[in-house]
Amino acid sequence: MSDVRELYQEVILHHNRAPRNFGELEDADRSAEGHNPLCGDRLHLDLRLEDGRVADVRFRGEGCAISKASSSLMTEAVKGLSEEEARKLLAAFHAAVTGVDPPADAPELRKLAALAGVREFPARVKCAMLAWRTLEAALKGEDEVTTE
Ligand code: ZN
Repeated sequence: MSDVRELYQEVILHHNRAPRNFGELEDADRSAEGHNPLCGDRLHLDLRLEDGRVADVRFRGEGCAISKASSSLMTEAVKGLSEEEARKLLAAFHAAVTGVDPPADAPELRKLAALAGVREFPARVKCAMLAWRTLEAALKGEDEVTTE
């Protein structure tokens, strides 16, 4: 168990140090700002849809290790997904970080499992969810979201 936890910590630290898809997306057609006042995390998300699928996605901002690692993992996970698939993954991820077992039909969730450990730290759930809430806002065409 502690080996698993160490591995998860490694994944989080690694994504925090070297986040994927970090930066600005010049040809973005959706963007949203996310803010988690509880922790002070701020996130700007750009995405480009093509034929209803997430063709590209980038994020930037300032936040704690959890929020940054979650943004990095989220951008990797949703690339290529349809809007509906992205929303399903969001729901499965939310279930995982709040302690409800994820539905069996979400194999993509395995890549995000490193963050499921935050279920033991309820205050950090909002840090882990910020990237996903911001994605949801961007998909809905809303340009701002707060976790409060
Ligand atoms: Zn945070």
